[in-house]
Amino acid sequence: MDCLFVVLNLLFLSLISLGILLPDLLLGYITKMLTCRIPLTTFLGVIGFSGALSFVRNRWVLKVVLGLIIITQIIQVNHWAYFGAPIHSQDISKVFFELDEIFQTGISLSHSLWPVWLTLVVSTSLIIVAPLYTKDRLKYSYTGILIFLILAITPVLSYIKGPSFFYTKPTYSTIYNTVRAFSDWLVRLDHKDKDFAYKPYTITYGHSKVKNIVLIVGESLSSRYMHLYGYKENNTPFLDSLKSMPNFIFAKGISSSVSTRACLQTFFNSFHNPGFLDLIRKKEANLFRLAKHQGYKTFVLSGQNEKLFHDTGTEFVDIFASEKDMRDALNEKGDEALLDKLSMLELGEKNFIVIHLRHVHSPFNAYEKYRPELAKSIDHKNRTSQSQQEYSNAIAYHDYWVKQCILTIIKKMIIDETIYDDRIKPHIQDDTVILFTSDHGQLLGERGLFGHNQMQPEVADVPIWILAPKPALISSLKNQPIISHYDLAKYIATLFGATITNPNENSHLQYVHGSELYANYEFMPWKIEKGQAIFLENQWVDEKKSA
Ligand SMILES: [Zn+2]
Repeated sequence: MDCLFVVLNLLFLSLISLGILLPDLLLGYITKMLTCRIPLTTFLGVIGFSGALSFVRNRWVLKVVLGLIIITQIIQVNHWAYFGAPIHSQDISKVFFELDEIFQTGISLSHSLWPVWLTLVVSTSLIIVAPLYTKDRLKYSYTGILIFLILAITPVLSYIKGPSFFYTKPTYSTIYNTVRAFSDWLVRLDHKDKDFAYKPYTITYGHSKVKNIVLIVGESLSSRYMHLYGYKENNTPFLDSLKSMPNFIFAKGISSSVSTRACLQTFFNSFHNPGFLDLIRKKEANLFRLAKHQGYKTFVLSGQNEKLFHDTGTEFVDIFASEKDMRDALNEKGDEALLDKLSMLELGEKNFIVIHLRHVHSPFNAYEKYRPELAKSIDHKNRTSQSQQEYSNAIAYHDYWVKQCILTIIKKMIIDETIYDDRIKPHIQDDTVILFTSDHGQLLGERGLFGHNQMQPEVADVPIWILAPKPALISSLKNQPIISHYDLAKYIATLFGATITNPNENSHLQYVHGSELYANYEFMPWKIEKGQAIFLENQWVDEKKSA
């Protein structure tokens, strides 16, 4: 007899699991309306949870839990289908306050959203039907308590880990993103955003200036350890060889943040004023958005975790490949695997390609195994000296990688291959600009400090270089001794043919933002004086209210 009961439990498990995963299966894999996929861990998690749920005796526990799944998934899937990205914990309250508006918008888009709604109807039906048709399944008292303990895990983690927990993963499953977003929303219900009365940016559009824009975003690379910028070790022979070219410029860069994630968020959103989160949320000056508006096909090839691209505008990215999509190749070939991916891209008429690197990140010797011939031997004097030597070796690998990257771009985008000679003097096709910066810099023993994420000027020190098809394209930046990420983002927008005007700019101050934009973060104001960056006293966003 027990056997039959277990069969009913299995039926319950199957119906609930299918109900939860149906949006991913139909909208992610089949119609491709959502970017979601089902990672194995999520699949097993859903099966396990549905299994545990099948043994719940208390009907009210079942009703509440299944009701929560249905409501949160309906919100998630609709949001994802409409905006192209999973919902953010900070947008959840809006859903309840703007129901009327959302309903109106939904109706006007019903011709394209109907497959989403049909999927949700089927998925909801499966979840509702499951307990009704398996009434005689095996049940145990107190299983409900277990269920609530499981449900409490993510809110507790969210509370402990802070806002970083809600970062969306646009190629993970809907339920994965739903559980995290709603957990974070729940523990931060009382959190209110500050209003700094910033004015919205204005964007004006004209003709785009180039066909292909390749932006390389480095990792933890500080200019002061590069030979190109005067470092003692000869670790950038390739970049040095570009130095005399009239269509190449390089300048000291100041990053917009000290952490990878916040840097990507600030950079791609042309973020400037501390605490102006509305800009990130609305993505009015988002580079991917501007590129799409101007008819560019957009690409991101990242050697890192896609979570770092939370709120960077991935909804405007046509082709997004992160570490998990290239894991084996990256392990086997290092960041050169990104170049294989680059050479296989199916380009559009106009293209904005972002390549996001993993090397020079610590441990600095991680990539030595891929090109051991480039690494100088290290004498282990002390931590500082060893770190600096390993870092310099990592820069030598980077310089080699840049050379390979430019060769790949030439091969892929240039029409006449004969115009580059043996010395690899890059004459990029008239229609391709290559830009480089690093997300942030690195401390290597300065004042006894190491790492990044610290609000120190050295962490904001990054290189910026541009290789343009003709000198006129870079003339506006030519004599700038220092270029900030914000300046660079605005420059890239001009290549698309978009001009960003930010009415909140201060005539001389710029800012390096902290590592967590969704909290009251610390930032470093700075200005240029006699060609040098002068950093003023650090401030906190909350103190900014009166400013
Ligand atoms: Zn980084």
